[in-house]
Amino acid sequence: METSYQHPSPEGYYGRFGGAYIPEMLFPNVEELQARYLQIMEEPAFRQEFNELLRDYVGRPSPLYLARRLSQAYGVQLYLKREDLNHTGAHKINNTIGQILLAERLGKKRIIAETGAGQHGVATATVCALKGLECIVYMGEKDIERQAPNVARMHMLGAKVIPATSGSKTLKDATNEAIRDWINHPHDTHYIIGSVVGPHPYPDMVARFQSIISEETRWQLKEKTGRETPDRVIACVGGGSNAAGAFYHFLDEPQVELVAVEAAGLGIHSGLSAATTALGRPGILHGSKSIVMQTEDGQVVEPHSISAGLDYPGIGPLHAHLFDSGRGKFLSATDEESVRAAFKLAQLEGIIPALESAHALAALDQLDLVNGETIVLCLSGRGDKDMATYMKQLQMTNGANYE
Ligand SMILES: *Cc1c(COP(=O)(O)O)cnc(C)c1O
Repeated sequence: METSYQHPSPEGYYGRFGGAYIPEMLFPNVEELQARYLQIMEEPAFRQEFNELLRDYVGRPSPLYLARRLSQAYGVQLYLKREDLNHTGAHKINNTIGQILLAERLGKKRIIAETGAGQHGVATATVCALKGLECIVYMGEKDIERQAPNVARMHMLGAKVIPATSGSKTLKDATNEAIRDWINHPHDTHYIIGSVVGPHPYPDMVARFQSIISEETRWQLKEKTGRETPDRVIACVGGGSNAAGAFYHFLDEPQVELVAVEAAGLGIHSGLSAATTALGRPGILHGSKSIVMQTEDGQVVEPHSISAGLDYPGIGPLHAHLFDSGRGKFLSATDEESVRAAFKLAQLEGIIPALESAHALAALDQLDLVNGETIVLCLSGRGDKDMATYMKQLQMTNGANYE
């Protein structure tokens, strides 16, 4: 049989990564999803409502924009896939729309989620308001303090934000609380996971919802250039959902190079990094087997990145397999390189990117680019949420010019 990178095995394995490593108490919840997600997602009525909401509520298709001045600077044809123009400012809404429609069809009345920086919490609170479903977001106590604007957004959208007060009081602890909640509410609650991570079927389900990114890219590129496939696709990787979506319809086209960019933080070997493939090894994190940053004896290492969305000690199992098999090229960009790349995009194109997306842009400086090649870069989100960080940089450099 031809092997496809798109589809995991029936047990949810991409190569040797994936699966469902969960406490027995969660079996009923996860098995229900495993049994029904594909059938529900393939129903014509589901597809129709999903596509209508993506169009009329999210604002899709997101433009594929030829960045002329940035292209000129690199001697390439660089197209930006503008996920930053989506409602709520990033790609995350594609997934939460899909999962809320799924939850409705499973008859769930209560939605839970965990969030670190609050971006996924906001995307979840948004779709719960849209559908009139109860929304509970678990968030580390420390993150609640650090991310006040997103906490306010969630409250305004009608969600309840519950602080996780154990351990380091961050994402990991919020995830534990969400899992505990789900165990206690097996019948009426759906858990919306925000990236291509977690036990099977989440990585496949989220990749399918995000695959709209590359589905659109193919016809948009055809319209603009006459060909459907670029030479390269570049995307940043936290858990890996925007990259999975941007790669999806090119995964089985080996002539398209897939470039995944992780956050190197202060430097891969600085002790303050989130470059999972460079630093990690196989392990189990959040219910699936993947590559995980861990100590000798298997304790998960606290990651660091200037961008909250990439500050994660693992990657989804699809990406672990792309790395392991050599199908994907994995690079990393430091905090400083990414901030510089953000200023460059702002000043050459008039677009202020999210810090996460700036990591993908920074990779342009590391690649051996072929003159005139066609590149699609996933601009996963907009930079409004990162202005405090950018303002610090402006103060430090006296408003320096990055052209
Ligand atoms: C959350 C986030 C990411 C990282 O998540 P992935 O699942 O790796 O895509 C990247 N960019 C933006 C703008 C985000 O909000």
